[in-house]
Amino acid sequence: MTEGTAELIEFVNRDAWDGVYHVVQCRRALSPSGLPGIDYALNPYGGCEHGCIYCYAPEVTHTDWQEWRVVRVKANVVTRLAAELPGISGTIGIGTVTDPYQGAEKRFQLTRRCLEVLRDRGYRTHIHTKSDLILRDLDLIAAGPGEVGVTVTGLNENRSKITEPGAPLPARRLEALRQLSAASVDCYVLIGPVLDHLEGHEEEFCDAVAATGVKRACLDALNLRPQLEARLGRMGICGSERARERIWELLTAAGLKVQNVF
Ligand code: SF4
Repeated sequence: MTEGTAELIEFVNRDAWDGVYHVVQCRRALSPSGLPGIDYALNPYGGCEHGCIYCYAPEVTHTDWQEWRVVRVKANVVTRLAAELPGISGTIGIGTVTDPYQGAEKRFQLTRRCLEVLRDRGYRTHIHTKSDLILRDLDLIAAGPGEVGVTVTGLNENRSKITEPGAPLPARRLEALRQLSAASVDCYVLIGPVLDHLEGHEEEFCDAVAATGVKRACLDALNLRPQLEARLGRMGICGSERARERIWELLTAAGLKVQNVF
């Protein structure tokens, strides 16, 4: 592949086309990470099709919010990763900025191929996603050390279609957690940001989470960056500390280990 969207015609599954992809070459696959428990960050894609309205990654990466959904496919990331790994040790965080199992991954399989390289060399991985596409790679994930976080922010499908329009619906993510747990993968549910629509639905939500068999939960409050605050304000959406506290209480009572995100 070379730079430019025209090259994408080599990927034959046109039915799966659900985004705008821009094929690029990356200079480096890995970057040192300041996230707790993660030594190096690996993001096979730039930008994210999930289009979550509460996403603050565009502001962190100084990307226009509309541009964020134009996914950059790092065509050479697998070879770059293989070249950079010698001399590197520690945990590799996959999907620290964008979702490694967004729609592009169905077509390009860069995350899977990176995982193959990391498994071959025995690296510990920490994967974070909002997609049940991760189940496609359960064989690789279960075969090596590491952990997986799956974000679920509520059960209401209509709400999910508004707040996370490109992401799989909540039931599919819960099913991913169920299958990861059943396969004895060290996994956790990331509930965040806790938005106001969860108020009054905490019990039903926590019952569904606990039923997956997941043993850990990370809760995250709404991280309001300036542009994000303006956007959510226009949509009348805000975070809920009350729901966050109630969910913490309920999941703890259900036997889960609960903590704040990082
Ligand atoms: S899945 Fe993550 S990176 Fe992608 S849009 Fe949503 S919050 Fe942003």
